[in-house]
Amino acid sequence: MAEAKSGKIEVSQTDIAEIRQSVAQLCAKYGEDYWLEMDRSHGYPSDFVAELTQAGFLGVLIPEQYGGSGLGVLEASAVMEEVCKSGAHAGVCHAQMYVMGSVLRHGSDEQKNQYLPKIARGELRLQSFGVTEPTTGTDTTSLKTTARKDGDNYVVNGQKVWISRIEHSDLMLLLARTTDKDKTQKKTEGLSVFIIDVKAAQGNGLEIRPIESMINHHSCELFFDDLVIPSESLLGEEGKGFKVILDGMNAERILIAAECVGDGRYFIDKASSYATERTVFDRPIGQNQGVQFPIARSYTEVEAASLMVEKAAKLFDAGLPCGAEANMAKMLASEASWKAGDVCMQTHGGFAFAKEYHIERKFRETRLYQIAPISTNLILSFVAEHVLDMPRSY
Ligand SMILES: Cc1cc2nc3c(=O)[nH]c(=O)nc-3n(C[C@H](O)[C@H](O)[C@H](O)COP(=O)(O)OP(=O)(O)OC[C@H]3O[C@@H](n4cnc5c(N)ncnc54)[C@H](O)[C@@H]3O)c2cc1C
Repeated sequence: MAEAKSGKIEVSQTDIAEIRQSVAQLCAKYGEDYWLEMDRSHGYPSDFVAELTQAGFLGVLIPEQYGGSGLGVLEASAVMEEVCKSGAHAGVCHAQMYVMGSVLRHGSDEQKNQYLPKIARGELRLQSFGVTEPTTGTDTTSLKTTARKDGDNYVVNGQKVWISRIEHSDLMLLLARTTDKDKTQKKTEGLSVFIIDVKAAQGNGLEIRPIESMINHHSCELFFDDLVIPSESLLGEEGKGFKVILDGMNAERILIAAECVGDGRYFIDKASSYATERTVFDRPIGQNQGVQFPIARSYTEVEAASLMVEKAAKLFDAGLPCGAEANMAKMLASEASWKAGDVCMQTHGGFAFAKEYHIERKFRETRLYQIAPISTNLILSFVAEHVLDMPRSY
């Protein structure tokens, strides 16, 4: 491995293959029954997350000076893909990788020194990102949570929804309005990001209510009632928080796309093996083109999505614009993994419904990514407007 001009460590295809192999070995210790049990009990896989952290995989994006590996999104994508390919649910920890990117790019030296080494060592978890609100949804700049300056503090009031992993995180990044929308020149102005100490806030102005949901994603509703946070919690400049979160969103989309590629490969492996083994009418079901063609088509779609993930990751790591590619990768990969899940279900017939086959759990999990962290329609409108120069639709 060599140091690149960007400060990131350059790795070869061989290094990436080694990363994949090590992640796969680690994940093999946590078999599918482990994940089924987590799903059934709504449990949090603390031991898996701790081991992934200790092995350095969740800190791949943290620069070496803060105790991470200093690698890029390309390598981080390989980690996430392997996690998902193993049958695991990466949603329990993926944000640990990319949320810290906002601290890295926009934090003061003090904040970086305070948080990043501890995150790299696994002593602090920063894996919660509080953006979505119940009444405004995708219309982020209309969010209603406010943080009002009060002496040396800010006072936070409002509500968030679907904030994942907060019960298993020490810190959360929170997006709130510091200037009313009608008092700013642009609607993206007047928003600010804060680093919230979750344990200190809970019960002192922050109430956390878990949402019972389709997958084991540990998502919650948050209620802020005069939560007092110190001014030093501000991340980046006051009023410029939209830029702080936008930067991180491209990394998030690429990594989630990589997870979908991993899910897709998981489904295709399962479907092709089962189609080869399962005999009905005295022949393997996979001998029928009606069974094998959908699997082959799905494989082709996942491979194509994987290329877009790689393109987006390489652009991100080179510091080049990658908004369109990150969005397209997320859309293509989430659709490909969902279709692969559907094909895998169909190939398994009735057994697909048996929990012990694990397909239905992964099927539910991969469905999320056509909706979160950004829904497909919003990606299409981004491409239409920003790539194809068509009129803005909203
Ligand atoms: C399990 C889970 C975990 C999540 N984790 C987090 C988290 O950790 N942090 C966080 O901040 N958020 C989180 N979210 C929220 C997620 O990012 C949002 O659900 C997602 O961005 C969609 O927003 P919404 O649900 O408000 O949908 P809405 O904005 O209400 O949209 C509903 C539907 O209408 C469509 N739509 C809306 N406007 C338009 C338009 N102008 N043109 C065309 N179509 C449109 C959308 O595409 C969508 O299909 C999570 C969600 C889930 C389900």
